Amino acid sequence: MARAEAIIDLGALEFNIKRLLSNTKAEGLAVVKADGYGHGLVPVAERALKAGAKWLGTALLDEAIALRDAGITAPIIAWLTPVSDDFESVLKKKIDLAIPSLGHLEAVVKTGEALGIPPRVHLEVDTGMSRGGALKEWIPLVTRASELSKSGGLEVIGIWSHFARADEPNHSFNDEQLRNFQARVLEAKEAGISPKILHLSNSAATLTNDSSHFDLVRLGIAMYGLSPDVNTMGDSKALDLKPVMKLRAKLHIVKDVPAGSQVGYGGTATTKSDTKLAVVAMGYADGVPRNANSTAGVLVGNRKAPIIGRVSMDQFVVEIGNDSIAHAGDWAYLIGSEGGDGYTADAWAKACGTINYEIVTRIGPRVPRVFTN
Ligand SMILES: *Cc1c(COP(=O)(O)O)cnc(C)c1O
Repeated sequence: MARAEAIIDLGALEFNIKRLLSNTKAEGLAVVKADGYGHGLVPVAERALKAGAKWLGTALLDEAIALRDAGITAPIIAWLTPVSDDFESVLKKKIDLAIPSLGHLEAVVKTGEALGIPPRVHLEVDTGMSRGGALKEWIPLVTRASELSKSGGLEVIGIWSHFARADEPNHSFNDEQLRNFQARVLEAKEAGISPKILHLSNSAATLTNDSSHFDLVRLGIAMYGLSPDVNTMGDSKALDLKPVMKLRAKLHIVKDVPAGSQVGYGGTATTKSDTKLAVVAMGYADGVPRNANSTAGVLVGNRKAPIIGRVSMDQFVVEIGNDSIAHAGDWAYLIGSEGGDGYTADAWAKACGTINYEIVTRIGPRVPRVFTN
């Protein structure tokens, strides 16, 4: 029996995808990068397709290859592929590539010519985020892509971009990016490109901005049942989403300590009274952030027990209190519970000054994923 595990509720994943797709006429792309946001790449991808997603999206080429090697034949886009990547595998495994620059286009087309396979690409335009995508190179990029398509050396499947502030639904920058996107698509069409698929929306825009859905919405965090931003959009409950991941670890030991005991490395916390502590068998090497404060903790013996002291590499201490019914060997829930209200990924994010995305994606490879429903 594992000392820690992440329980992945694939039924909840299916519920979330259906709920998100019921709000749009666009097709759905399930974003499964970073091991399915820490939830497990292949099981998440397979269930997402069963739930109605038609496409899969990864950051890395290796992630896309792992999906093909698992026998998945649905269209896949990989969007973070440095020009030194193995484009031969891209073409042989029929993986769509995001193209953010002329350099990328020339590299993949060269490989395509050598193999006699025209690359399937999605031209990426920078509409204001200043991260991926072509900005000043856009016209040269679409001009060259058009030329290559006409000679049969390239298949332009899509044009796409990414929002920087979709989790602030009322921010005018979203309108600005949308207008830029429409203008850049028009330029591409004038250059002779006729893409089948336009895509711009992430989870937040899928939930809040119909006019940005186009042909395909890219579903990430919301598919996993978490809010893109609890402050601006409300939590999972408010958005009618079901968190997919529960996280639990065993209590290694339970013991009584006197008032005034300092706890953990650096003695950063001290017990205020005689109390009972428990050691949870999970630490920062597993993805529990070292800087989590005592507003996070575990649910054990039907009650919340806050972190006391610093999180260590493989373990951390919680204060369970004198009258706790918890024993060594019991499960302590870091995220979720068997029923009732436990801590959430949002609570952990707040306790660490980060976002729920980082909490779930950091859960490390020492923690087995167990799939249910
Ligand atoms: C990660 C990612 C998404 C999903 O974003 P969420 O905020 O999790 O919905 C969509 N598109 C691209 C290009 C991404 O990198």
